[in-house]
Amino acid sequence: MPEDIRRCTRCILPESYPNVDFDENGVCRVCREFEEKHAAVDWKAREKKLEKILDRYRRRGLKYDVLVPFSGGKDSTYTLWLLKNKYDMRCLAFNFDNGFLDDDALVFVKKTARKLGVDLVTYTPARDLLNKVYKRALEATGEFCAACVVLMPTAIFRAAENHGIRLIVAGFSDILEAPPPETSYMDRVCFRNIMKDHFDMRELEWDYFFPSWKRMFKVKQVNLPNFIPWNLPEIYRTLNEELDFGKSMKDVRYDCLGTPHSSYLFRLRTGFGKYEYLYANMVRAGVIDREEALEIVRKREPKGPPDGFEEFIGALGCDMSVMDGIEEKSVFNFKTRNRKLRDLAIRIRRLVP
Ligand SMILES: [Zn+2]
Repeated sequence: MPEDIRRCTRCILPESYPNVDFDENGVCRVCREFEEKHAAVDWKAREKKLEKILDRYRRRGLKYDVLVPFSGGKDSTYTLWLLKNKYDMRCLAFNFDNGFLDDDALVFVKKTARKLGVDLVTYTPARDLLNKVYKRALEATGEFCAACVVLMPTAIFRAAENHGIRLIVAGFSDILEAPPPETSYMDRVCFRNIMKDHFDMRELEWDYFFPSWKRMFKVKQVNLPNFIPWNLPEIYRTLNEELDFGKSMKDVRYDCLGTPHSSYLFRLRTGFGKYEYLYANMVRAGVIDREEALEIVRKREPKGPPDGFEEFIGALGCDMSVMDGIEEKSVFNFKTRNRKLRDLAIRIRRLVP
């Protein structure tokens, strides 16, 4: 990564970030918007709202009150721990294994579910269909992550429905994890348009197209970090004391094994890497200091293709010709759902009790 590039003086976003717009102090637009948006959050009111939601679902299911997507990372582990021990919810932990999970993470998932005394189901889709979807996504859009971005929530909703659960509580943090809206987008209309001439759509129905009316009205989903302050020092302390988590804030983030490769592809198209915005998010949220983040990003964002890149692409069923013209490929070349309809659907889903 060239080090003569200009970066935000507060987080680490580089000048290649879309509309980065540094002010006279060198602070980027994203940092300024963050400050505005998060200065006025009334956490007490939010937690009250969360308690109201949980009260509504507690002891309402046959066996489970809530489904918790559980990857073994700090956020989902803490979410599961809180729901079980603080909020007295009967949880079903749901692990989605795309085949790119660290073996250690899978061992931890099993061990932790047992320790917490919660039931665990894992869904591991067969590799051939997944690979076909990864391959098509990569050829069409220059990235393969769309396959999981659509499959994972579908699998989560379906698991909830299959177990008679009407509430999903996840540990996904928009502040820390959400990709830049300027570079990344996916909805199922867009996904269908990418896949349509390459599959018999019935082949994809089960894994990719959970009926949207059920998502809207039959199953409610909330993300815990939107309702309570996500205090990472406290989270690590709790997990290490209670669950032998064995990690600290200084450890590098746990990710899918595909992330270095997807970050490299992402950088070819956007001019910056996924680790750059992920660690910028962490600096902004006060999780890690700027210098530390810069050092990790320097290590994790390779200048060329990461180790094993060609093998990785080969494992998805592609050869290196898929890289031809990759800079021009984008998910935005495909028609997406109408924005107004989408925003309306999101608003309705929030209103559903
Ligand atoms: Zn910034």
